[in-house]
Amino acid sequence: MKISGVKGMNDVLPAEVARWHEMEAVARDVFALHGYREVRTPVVEPAQLFARGVGEATDIVNKEMYVFEDKGEELLALRPEGTAGTVRAFIEHGAYVEGPQKWFYMGPMFRRERPQKGRYRQFHQIGCEAFGVAEPFVDAEQIALLDGYLARLGVRAELRLNTVGDASCRPAYLADLKAWLTGRKAELCPDCNDRIERNPLRVLDCKTPSCQPVLEQAPRLLERLCEGCAAHFAQVKAGLEALGVAYRVDPRLVRGLDYYVRTAYEFTSDALGSQSAVAGGGRYDRLVETLGGPPTPGIGFALGEERLAMILEKAGRAPQERRPAVFFISADAAGALEALRRAAALRREGIACELDPRGGKFKAQFKQAERVGARYAVVLGENEVRSGEAKLKDMQSREETPVALDALAARLRG
Ligand code: ATP
Ligand code: MG
Repeated sequence: MKISGVKGMNDVLPAEVARWHEMEAVARDVFALHGYREVRTPVVEPAQLFARGVGEATDIVNKEMYVFEDKGEELLALRPEGTAGTVRAFIEHGAYVEGPQKWFYMGPMFRRERPQKGRYRQFHQIGCEAFGVAEPFVDAEQIALLDGYLARLGVRAELRLNTVGDASCRPAYLADLKAWLTGRKAELCPDCNDRIERNPLRVLDCKTPSCQPVLEQAPRLLERLCEGCAAHFAQVKAGLEALGVAYRVDPRLVRGLDYYVRTAYEFTSDALGSQSAVAGGGRYDRLVETLGGPPTPGIGFALGEERLAMILEKAGRAPQERRPAVFFISADAAGALEALRRAAALRREGIACELDPRGGKFKAQFKQAERVGARYAVVLGENEVRSGEAKLKDMQSREETPVALDALAARLRG
């Protein structure tokens, strides 16, 4: 009986993995340049962590989380996102006593969503969190980091920026927004109607086409920011301008939870179709406290690796797999043994090489050399073993040049 994988949970096959290595290697490099250090937390956490850390009012916790009981003990969940676990670890290990910290993570996340292009049930995120700094330049620096990361991968994405205010300017606005939305209820989709009471800010983020003309007219927080939030937003923008990062202010971009304050941002790409966001982030100055830590401001983002891979693929960037420098072809039993030995020796020197352990016809072995993309082929048989000399065949030009087997490593490196 054939068993298929779980719907919405994908295999990344070897031919595609090189792209993932590139996304992750560039991330590690760019993050290290900015002082972000990696944290690895479990994929399973107490379900309670997400209820509090992501919010009961969110779709993620409300209907998308994989929750299970651990043999009559506490309720556990597969993590739907990375921030809550990172913050838990930050608090649990008392990392805050050392002052501001910049951490990053990468790994699988799980949400029971309706699988479609760019939306899966297991997907992968790369995320950054900066703890301990409330000042706006850390926002600008983090956004620029993400912008620079995407640029290094050759990705052009649009940065949309907004502010969601804070406890001094948001409540009055929310009350007005709720009243305004209630008045337009009939024109809004069922999802919006659901959210008006629970999470009115999220209504602004609705993507349903028929809601757009209505929501365009909704009252805007941007025009009613308190002094502190207005100054913060101005400084974030000034920082981005100083760093040469282009942005578009989008007054309807939101993060729908109470502990999110001020800066909210998203990078979107046309290459993605309707799931257009490749990464999203925001400031969460009250999250650490909400999860039981000392008051610690923070800002973070998460990027979807599947979506980034899609953009790279669309742009025609072929994943760069390491190809063998040489493929040993054996002519007889003595040659096969020599091939085994020589290949091991080259690999110890850091040179990638291959051989066909099945031996067999020359033609088949050469075909194999071609298929794996070897740069050169070397035929080994009794004669070559005896003389210590062989021919190095350039697989592209078909040109053959003599080479001493002991000098092979030097030749291939040169
Ligand atoms: P969306 O509006 O697309 O649902 P989101 O607001 O749920 O995104 P976040 O929770 O902020 O997304 O996650 C950050 C990034 O992770 C997204 O921008 C996206 O690239 C990626 N992402 C989120 N959910 C999925 C998913 N189900 N499958 C693949 N990637 C995802
Ligand atoms: Mg979502």
